[in-house]
Amino acid sequence: MTNDKVQFTRALKTIARNEQMKSYIQQSNELYPLLLKAAKRFVIGEHRQEAIATAKELITKGYLISLDYIGENTIDLKECQKAKNEYLHLMEEMSSLSMQQTVSLDLSHIGLSFDAETAHLHLLEIAKAAKLNKMTVMIGMEESSKTDEILTIYKKATSQYDNIGITIQTHLLRSNNDIQNLVDLPGRIRIVKGAYQESSKDAIPRSNELNNRYLHFVEQLIEANHPVSVATHDETLIKEMEQRGYFRHPNLEIEMLYGIRPDLLKALKSKGYNCKIYLPYGKDWYLYLCHRIAEHPENLYRAITEIIVP
Ligand code: FAD
Repeated sequence: MTNDKVQFTRALKTIARNEQMKSYIQQSNELYPLLLKAAKRFVIGEHRQEAIATAKELITKGYLISLDYIGENTIDLKECQKAKNEYLHLMEEMSSLSMQQTVSLDLSHIGLSFDAETAHLHLLEIAKAAKLNKMTVMIGMEESSKTDEILTIYKKATSQYDNIGITIQTHLLRSNNDIQNLVDLPGRIRIVKGAYQESSKDAIPRSNELNNRYLHFVEQLIEANHPVSVATHDETLIKEMEQRGYFRHPNLEIEMLYGIRPDLLKALKSKGYNCKIYLPYGKDWYLYLCHRIAEHPENLYRAITEIIVP
C-alpha cells in the first residue's frame, strides 16, 4: 500500500469512529438519508426486518447467508447487552422462518472492549441460542492487539459449543501458528486477507506472497478435512483455487461481502459451489461504509453512483 493510501485509510477510519461526526450525520435531515442511500450499496439497511427479507430472497436464489449486526469497540455495558440481545432476536426470527444459517459478529461489539468475560458470556448465550436453532456463529477477527484475547475466548467457548467459527487474517505473520492450534477444534475457519493496518513487523502487505500464503492456509485446512470459508473477492485467487479443485470440497464455502463482486459470486454459484453472502445491517452503517471506502477507495465512486442514479 502506498503511503498516501495508508494516510487516507487512517484518516477515514478515524472519521468513522468520531462520535461528534456520527451524531452530526444522524441529526442532519439532508446528510443522513443521502449517506444511508450510498451505504445501501454495501449494507442492507438499518433494521432487522430488512435484513431478514433480503436474506430470505437470497436463500431462495440458492445462496447461504451470514447476517451481521454492525458494530465494534462498544465500551458501554448496556450497549454490549443490547447488541447481544439483537443477535438473540435476530436468530429467533430467522428460526421462525426456518433459516438455519450463520450470524457473524465482532467480539468487541458484544463486550470485549468492556471486559473479556462479558464478551465470553455473551458469546456463550448467542452460541447456545444458535445451537438450539441449528445455526452457526462466526467470529470476526479485529486488530492484532485483540487477536490473543479473541482466540482465547473462541477456544473457551468452542469447548462448550461446536457451532462457532473463527476468522483468520492471512496477512498476520502469526496466523500460520494460529491455524495449527485451531485445526483440531470443530469450528469453521474463515480465511481473509486482513482488513486492518498492521505494522510491517506483524503483517505482510497485499502481494503475490500474501496470495500464496492464502492458498497455503486453505490447502492445509482442506487436507485436514476441516470446514473452511474462503472469504475473498480476488478473482485471480479464486481462479487458482477453482483450478486446484478446492471448491469441490464439500466443507468449503466461498464467502463475499454484500454488494462486492456479486457477478463473480453468482457465476460461482451457477457452477454448483457453496456460495455465501455476508449481509450487514444496523444503525452503525456509517462505520461500515467508511471501512469499505477505506479498504477500497473506488467504493466512494460506487456509493456516489448509488445516490446519483435515480
Ligand atoms: P483484495 O486484494 O483486497 O482485493 C481484490 C479485488 O477484489 C480488488 O482488486 C477488487 O476488485 C475487489 N475488492 C476487494 N475489496 C473490495 C471492496 N471493499 N470494494 C470493492 N471491491 C473490492 N477482515 C478482517 O480483518 N477481519 C474479518 O473478520 C473479516 N471478515 C470478512 C468476512 C468476509 C465474508 C469477507 C469477504 C471479508 C472479510 N474481511 C475481514 C475483509 C478482508 O480481510 C479483506 O480486507 C477484504 O475481503 C478485501 O480483500 P480481498 O481478499 O477481497 O482481496
